[in-house]
Amino acid sequence: MWLERASLVWGQHLTIPAFELLRPRSLAEASELLLKHGDDARLIAGGTTLVILMKQRTVYYPYLIDLQGISGIDHITADGDGVRIGAMATQRAVETSSVVRRSFPALADAFGKIGNVRVRTTATVGGNLACS
Ligand SMILES: Cc1cc2nc3c(=O)[nH]c(=O)nc-3n(C[C@H](O)[C@H](O)[C@H](O)COP(=O)(O)OP(=O)(O)OC[C@H]3O[C@@H](n4cnc5c(N)ncnc54)[C@H](O)[C@@H]3O)c2cc1C
Repeated sequence: MWLERASLVWGQHLTIPAFELLRPRSLAEASELLLKHGDDARLIAGGTTLVILMKQRTVYYPYLIDLQGISGIDHITADGDGVRIGAMATQRAVETSSVVRRSFPALADAFGKIGNVRVRTTATVGGNLACS
């Protein structure tokens, strides 16, 4: 895990207050960081909602725990009559998955209706569920 001090500048007047980006390499590490920082921390996946909210100053967290570095949680696999979808699978991956399309075409279609391709390519299933 390594830490990165980040202060993102989005334009002359649109900035995100400084925060620390924590990059766990496993779910166990991510859980430890959540426990350690409590309400001061938030998970960040694709960032499509959270970054906007922080930019608008609707929310602020001094620590963001980035899930991008954790492998094995973006799977989409058939499982009997069902499908297993990892929290970090992108919405675009679900939309275009042959596994999902074969078993649950309505789900693939529904994901294809969110935002635009650019958003869906970055936004995750876990982020969408957490926002719902
Ligand atoms: C232009 C635009 C159009 C959109 N249109 C639609 C739409 O039509 N329909 C729709 O439903 N949504 C829409 N959205 C919302 C979009 O689906 C969400 O932005 C997206 O799902 C969030 O995913 P993310 O990975 O970017 O989450 P992030 O922005 O990274 O995180 C969002 C929240 O989820 C939490 N979170 C993320 N991952 C996890 C996890 N694995 N476990 C627990 N908590 C987690 C974060 O802590 C944060 O609170 C739109 C967004 C944009 C920007």
